[in-house]
Amino acid sequence: MAHVHSELPVRTGAAPESVHRVTIEERGSFCFATCSCGWFAPGRRSRDRSRRDASEHLAQEGQDVPEG
Ligand SMILES: [Zn+2]
Repeated sequence: MAHVHSELPVRTGAAPESVHRVTIEERGSFCFATCSCGWFAPGRRSRDRSRRDASEHLAQEGQDVPEG
């Protein structure tokens, strides 16, 4: 019977991308939700929409949605 060798995942130091800081950028009449991890949402005509995009991104990444 073959012995299955299980390896633990190797942690390669710090992970600077673990923090997601979402900001809403406004350009003209459009708003863009962008994140410090490099993620960004398409342009929206309403700020609420951009906030929603941001909230969904944070939720997907398992981050708490900031109040306000
Ligand atoms: Zn992010």
